[in-house]
Amino acid sequence: MASDSDQKDIVVVGGGIIGCTSAYFLTRHPAYDPSKHKITLLEASKIAGGASGKAGGLLALWAYPSNIVPLSYRLHAQLAKEHDGESKWGYRRIHCGQLAAKGRPNEKKEMLECKPSIGESVSLNKRDGKALGKVTAAALPKDLNWFAPESVRSYYEMGDPDTTAQVHPYQFTTAMAELAAQKGVNIILGSVTSIDTSNRSGVKSVTYKDKASQTSHTIAATDVVVSAGPWTQRVYPPAPISGMRAHSVTITPSKPISAHAIFTEISLPPDFGNKDTFLKSKRAHQKTVTPEIYARPNNEAYACGEGDHLVPLPKTTEDVETDLARCQDIIDYVSSVSDELRDGEVTVRQACYLPNVEAVSGGPLIGPTGVRGLLLAAGHTCWGIQNGPGTGKLISEFVFDGKAKSATIGSLDPRKVM
Ligand SMILES: Cc1cc2nc3c(=O)[nH]c(=O)nc-3n(C[C@H](O)[C@H](O)[C@H](O)COP(=O)(O)OP(=O)(O)OC[C@H]3O[C@@H](n4cnc5c(N)ncnc54)[C@H](O)[C@@H]3O)c2cc1C
Repeated sequence: MASDSDQKDIVVVGGGIIGCTSAYFLTRHPAYDPSKHKITLLEASKIAGGASGKAGGLLALWAYPSNIVPLSYRLHAQLAKEHDGESKWGYRRIHCGQLAAKGRPNEKKEMLECKPSIGESVSLNKRDGKALGKVTAAALPKDLNWFAPESVRSYYEMGDPDTTAQVHPYQFTTAMAELAAQKGVNIILGSVTSIDTSNRSGVKSVTYKDKASQTSHTIAATDVVVSAGPWTQRVYPPAPISGMRAHSVTITPSKPISAHAIFTEISLPPDFGNKDTFLKSKRAHQKTVTPEIYARPNNEAYACGEGDHLVPLPKTTEDVETDLARCQDIIDYVSSVSDELRDGEVTVRQACYLPNVEAVSGGPLIGPTGVRGLLLAAGHTCWGIQNGPGTGKLISEFVFDGKAKSATIGSLDPRKVM
């Protein structure tokens, strides 16, 4: 229990990118003194076991919201420089564009036993009006040679290596956790069951169930950061955060592919798929699909599809249901426009939940909740990897300085929507 007024018992809830960057920047704040301040990070299942380990990893100065994007984009570059992010988490500057293409009938058959995918798909909305306004018609870059030439209809540049970069989200998030631990953060695998705010002067303690022993523990807290992604509302019910499932795959291409992130718009032929393919009937009425494809270092391609609301948010990241038919759709769509991806080896099929803010103001929500010592850092939608470091830095300022100093973020104040 805190005994003198300077001592802080800081508890970060959630080991996704937001919790891990918060823990990292708390240990880098000039006021942090490990002999006086205790920081505990509580993660229910596994560090980066949710969206933070399964996202694409695109970083962009043209992302949103504009009040934290430049700060976070800059911090990504600084972190990569300071900790050799290029080799540790695949940080690199890249080109980004939008490609319209005509899908070819699928020649390679996947021998997967899965049912046809069902239900409506929902866009992840990475590009807002401003980003779309930056799109300029251009010829296909010379090194973007991993799309079948007969498929390509048009290419528009969205970002270049001055404005666009990438990281491997799982490697980045786990590296942040490790760097925070090296400076004194105690990482515990345990699920937070309650936050005691009965102390009139603010938060008092946090109770969690230890993952290994399944026993309940209560630890003292002067400051609590709730950063449980789509699970935030289950930890702190007033937070208007929900989750949307999205699928993705990784592929080892048959030949190395150049460093581009591509937003596609693929028109599928009416007879897409083989006659005996069980998915044919579903596809026949879905003519245009929009998977995002990111080339990564070490000869890996990442591709994700649209989201869906078919399966409610499960209890933990470990209980997330992967619909193999949805993964197969993504594989077939990207195969229809690229030989390198069609003839490559699929290495991962996965799903995760995107944290959305159920409020007109959009997200994320970063800052005080109205309960003294209780901060929120959640609802980062489809730009949480880009905006993770900026959020972590701002949280460290709220905790040690009592206010945000590195950016003006009044519009992201959780008290406006709770
Ligand atoms: C398909 C897809 C592609 C994406 N691509 C990009 C991209 O290219 N660029 C980009 O910037 N963003 C991208 N995003 C968005 C990004 O992944 C998210 O915004 C970000 O990962 C959210 O991080 P988080 O830490 O808030 O949540 P999460 O990663 O979900 O982490 C929350 C953590 O809290 C833990 N938790 C939950 N309940 C408890 C509890 N009771 N006690 C303790 N711990 C708990 C969970 O186990 C989990 O580990 C993408 C998202 C998806 C779905």
